[in-house]
Amino acid sequence: MLKPYVHFADHNAMGVILQAFDMFRLKSCIDFVPWTGEQDYLSVVKYSGCWSYVGKQGGLQKLSIGSGCDHISIVEHELLHALGIWNEQSRADRDDYVTIQWDNIRHGRWRNFQKNTLQESDSLNVPYDYSSVMHYGSTAFQTAPGLNTIITRDPIFMDFIGQRLDISRAGPLTAQPNVQLHFIVGLVGPMYL
Ligand SMILES: [Zn+2]
Repeated sequence: MLKPYVHFADHNAMGVILQAFDMFRLKSCIDFVPWTGEQDYLSVVKYSGCWSYVGKQGGLQKLSIGSGCDHISIVEHELLHALGIWNEQSRADRDDYVTIQWDNIRHGRWRNFQKNTLQESDSLNVPYDYSSVMHYGSTAFQTAPGLNTIITRDPIFMDFIGQRLDISRAGPLTAQPNVQLHFIVGLVGPMYL
């Protein structure tokens, strides 16, 4: 059992955050516990937007659940980033599954759609998961309504991406609970959503 320390005070989304912790306890080997002065810990703040660093940074590490971010799947998404998990569409093999529509992505958000190299992240032999809570929806960061930023190669999966229900069972956390946390990476700027 991995026990990241987490601190949050007077957060408007406290109920949802606690619910997300319960979900991790239930579905993974991760048990978020209250911070009591330890060196490295996660601090859930309410800044602008929903964002997190990818992986452990050391010391006080912030994660923002801003206004409009108080949905359990968004909280799970950001916590998973903090644990070292990238967005699903950043996988090195993503071009086999989705096509990124670069022209439709809002200025300044291209980084969110970048593809990792195999050196930067490891999918741990978990199949590409369209229904992952880490996968963006088809219109994420679109420049205008009606424009897609991600198109699935097989059109049948268009409705699956961006699901905001819960952590999927096929995800790396349950597939290889003891392995996946070792690929925690550092020094990555905050990932918005
Ligand atoms: Zn994300």
